[in-house]
Amino acid sequence: MVDLLGRPIRDLRVSVTDSCNFRCTYCLPSEAFPRDYAFLKPDQLLRFSDIELVVAALLPLGLQKVKITGGEPLLRPLLVELIALLKGRWPGLEVALITNGHHLAPLVKRIRKAGLDSVTVSLDALDPTVFGRMTGNAHRLDTVLAGIEEAHREFEQVKINTVLIRGENDDQVEALAKYFQRPGFALRFIEYMDVGSLNRWRRDQVVTGAEVLERLQKLKNLFPLPKRHPGETSERWVWSEAEGEVGFINSVSRPFCAECVRVRLSADGKLYTCLFSNRSTDLKPVLLTGNLAEVTQTITAVWKKRDDRYSEQRQSLAGTTRQEMFTLGG
Ligand code: SAM
Ligand code: SF4
Ligand code: SF4
Repeated sequence: MVDLLGRPIRDLRVSVTDSCNFRCTYCLPSEAFPRDYAFLKPDQLLRFSDIELVVAALLPLGLQKVKITGGEPLLRPLLVELIALLKGRWPGLEVALITNGHHLAPLVKRIRKAGLDSVTVSLDALDPTVFGRMTGNAHRLDTVLAGIEEAHREFEQVKINTVLIRGENDDQVEALAKYFQRPGFALRFIEYMDVGSLNRWRRDQVVTGAEVLERLQKLKNLFPLPKRHPGETSERWVWSEAEGEVGFINSVSRPFCAECVRVRLSADGKLYTCLFSNRSTDLKPVLLTGNLAEVTQTITAVWKKRDDRYSEQRQSLAGTTRQEMFTLGG
């Protein structure tokens, strides 16, 4: 089952909450989202059984991986149970988690035991002042670092996602590279994207992967790694076998829409076929029926009409309304 551009579904990003304890300037700027901002209420969120039904519907269509995201997914009560549910029923399905890391340390052992395959922690700075400025100042860098180290002890590889914004945290590149130049880490630099509209994105704030790679090569030689599968978004490099990996997600300077095999499910059950889409399909009514065949049919009908390729068309589509990242899960 492929879309209008021949792309299958391989990857589901499922948001389990839109709430977040951080206020990253590029995602949930505090001017627009004060501390008392009304996120979705618990009864508006998909139940774990709804998520299970969506996964069951997607597996025969080719799904291979589920990434749990948010908002901040570790704020969702009983998240460990969702991981255990998915891995218990489908041990071969890859289940990953992306988190801001603040609540990670005490949960690492439990999520590992529940069967989680991999963890990504978002971290944009090692300097506490820059970290505070980027995340809304309220949270502590050392708590996140403790979560990262704990995850590093339990998981074979921990990915670190760094969004670079020129003039904000681009001075952190070398320090991050040195800190994570260890086996078991993959540091990934993500180009700042124009998701949503509240972050007032500007093209000149994007630090391209090519620019970062050039800076890193001055520290030490990096060697390119081959793609592991066609839909892999990260261009991977390695310092040496004994050290970690560095990756670049160059979604602005080198869009990869032609290979985009990802579908997104919002915390309240809306299916999105592109990060930049302003259209979605509400799956809640069909999920309420509990009818697997109907869920499959609904998703198939949506996917077969999909022709999204925003990043390739950015110039001509700039100005269209877009969902905010925290509702979509990145
Ligand atoms: N709260 C979790 C976290 O921060 O890891 C998960 C959700 S967050 C929306 C997922 C990822 O999206 C994070 O790595 C974040 O840095 C990234 N992100 C958010 N807004 C972005 C933007 N405008 N451009 C690029 N990446 C962005
Ligand atoms: Fe929260 Fe993640 Fe968005 Fe930061 S990037 S505000 S941690 S959802
Ligand atoms: Fe996929 Fe849309 Fe991003 Fe292109 S712009 S890679 S279609 S999510």
